[in-house]
Amino acid sequence: MFALYDTLTREVKPLAMREKGKLGIYLCGPTVYGPPHLGHGRATIVYDVLRRYLEWRGIEVRLVSNITDIDDRIIERANREGRPWQDITHKCESVWFEAMGRLGVQQPTDIPHATEYVQQMVEMIGTLVERGVAYATSDGVYLSVESVPDYGALAHQSLDEMLAGGGDREVLGAGEKRHPADFALWKFSKPGEPSWQSPWGGGRPGWHSECVVMSLELLGDGFDLHCGGADLRFPHHENERAQSVALGRSFARHWMHNGFVVDAEGEKMSKSLGNVTNLLDLLDHYDARAYRMLLLQTHYRSPVKVGQDNIDASVKALAGLDAFAARSRGAVVGGDTSTAMADAEVLARFVELMNNDLDTPNAMAHIFDTVRRANTAIDSGDAAAAGLVAAVHEMCGAVGLTLGAIVAVDDDAQAKAAALDAARAAKDFAKADALRNELQNAGWIVETTKAGTALRRA
Ligand SMILES: [Zn+2]
Repeated sequence: MFALYDTLTREVKPLAMREKGKLGIYLCGPTVYGPPHLGHGRATIVYDVLRRYLEWRGIEVRLVSNITDIDDRIIERANREGRPWQDITHKCESVWFEAMGRLGVQQPTDIPHATEYVQQMVEMIGTLVERGVAYATSDGVYLSVESVPDYGALAHQSLDEMLAGGGDREVLGAGEKRHPADFALWKFSKPGEPSWQSPWGGGRPGWHSECVVMSLELLGDGFDLHCGGADLRFPHHENERAQSVALGRSFARHWMHNGFVVDAEGEKMSKSLGNVTNLLDLLDHYDARAYRMLLLQTHYRSPVKVGQDNIDASVKALAGLDAFAARSRGAVVGGDTSTAMADAEVLARFVELMNNDLDTPNAMAHIFDTVRRANTAIDSGDAAAAGLVAAVHEMCGAVGLTLGAIVAVDDDAQAKAAALDAARAAKDFAKADALRNELQNAGWIVETTKAGTALRRA
């Protein structure tokens, strides 16, 4: 039974699925106004590992992850640079998915854009106003948090405690709000800003309203799992949940949050501190699998320091696994490990570890231990070698680690891969086959993925 820490109840408990064998996950996606940072990379990798592992276990996973394509920060940047706001969101979104592709993060099954759901958001806010739990001021429409009986459940703080602590000025604010913690569902637009119609005046939805509408719309009431970085727990997730409570709808059954990325001095890395090493830099300078390796060796709830030492250690660990993959390929009986039955005991231990709140650090230690055992078995000509080697490949695949020499794809091969995708899209299968043959003759393993053709060296 797969058990996971639930941020709401603060206990590790079995992930009870609404429908047996099927898991619906909502992951808060990026606000597309700048390059992805390391925190984004961490969140997407953590939930990619979760998804791959559960799929490997035979569970059908539907991962909905949104794009917030309307936001104050997008408007600010558009004004500052004198560009249309859509220009910024389109560019940033393609940079985002390119980075995710390089990280080996699978595309979400659904990618709703906030601007596609504005009508549903207006309807939901209308229901909240009708119910008397939301009200309009001169700058927008707000939810009254005092009308939500368990507000603060995710933060594990009551409203009184939040106020006594002084609170975050940005969160609590002032003005015409009935309570300092009331938050905007709808923000009236200023002249020249992007604007949608509503019964209360032209404007745009608040961020917290976007996610609650898109998650319920696509996954339905009482969906299985809502996740995101620990920085989203409050106020974003608290406020999403508050709206669903105020609507009388059941929301996520389970809440999962991953820890922060901190720099070597332990500072939280975030855009507001301006000390961010962005994800693209990391991808340009290291094996793209290194960040995944580093994160696998850290528990997802712990903060992680990204520094030279642990990135170097990850690169070294990967080199060890790659060398093992190369060595074992030629060393086991028949040379073909793909048909060998993976050692059942080894896999059972791996499952036991992963089922315990996604204990990837111990699961990785188990993989390295299996590598050592397999090497010994190969050295002594032990027949158990093939099963151990196959188990290593199975386990690495289950956490999204591809083993093998990483060779840069040259421009010529890249162009042929693109032409292959185009031919396939045009249903010109003869041309697609010819291109595939050319690539294979040049030594490439040609893989068809959801995102298109992927090339790697054996
Ligand atoms: Zn969200």
